[in-house]
Amino acid sequence: MMTPMSHRVQVKNTIVELLEGDITKQDVGAIVNAANSSLLGGGGVDGAIHRAAGPELLAETKTLGGCQTGDAKLTGGYKLKAQYVIHTVGPIYQAHDPLVPKQLASAYRRSLEVAEANGIRTIAFPSISTGAYGYPLKEAAPIALKTVIDTIRERDSFDRIRFVLFDPQTVEAYTRALDQLTQLHSDSLKPI
Ligand code: ADP
Repeated sequence: MMTPMSHRVQVKNTIVELLEGDITKQDVGAIVNAANSSLLGGGGVDGAIHRAAGPELLAETKTLGGCQTGDAKLTGGYKLKAQYVIHTVGPIYQAHDPLVPKQLASAYRRSLEVAEANGIRTIAFPSISTGAYGYPLKEAAPIALKTVIDTIRERDSFDRIRFVLFDPQTVEAYTRALDQLTQLHSDSLKPI
């Protein structure tokens, strides 16, 4: 029998959900930026976040000395509804390089660690590395979801983790990956 695809699951006390939309509009504690290692702004979601937050965001990221691939750094949200921005740097895709999936997982894990250290309980993620950085959606979506779910499973630090996905293909890839994870871990992931 086919199980219906789920856009929302509960992991202990945390809701993990998928939404099609624009991350700059999210009313959450922090939105995550898929930045580049200079932290000086770029295209895609990075450009959209800087435009929506206003020039004070760049003034702050300039003081941070960049960010290594797989790491994350916190700034204010300025004109955004979100109180904070967590800037992380995903890898540029390179097939058959074993470091690349580890760096993608690290970008999600470090973002959650920075959020936890600052008491931020609601977080919105974009699909890191699957735009200009060329990571195939089919490979990136399961890594993104598994890393977030494994990280939050060990803690009781978050109320809601929302993946804000910009187009229907991205929503579809994440929905499939979430559905597969939910079937594998039916004991701990509850569709809601
Ligand atoms: P990367 O360099 O990490 O690949 P990109 O910004 O090029 O980052 O793309 C990452 C993802 O963010 C892509 O799926 C892209 O469509 C998406 N994206 C672009 N703008 C927004 C936005 N305003 N809100 C949410 N996602 C966005």
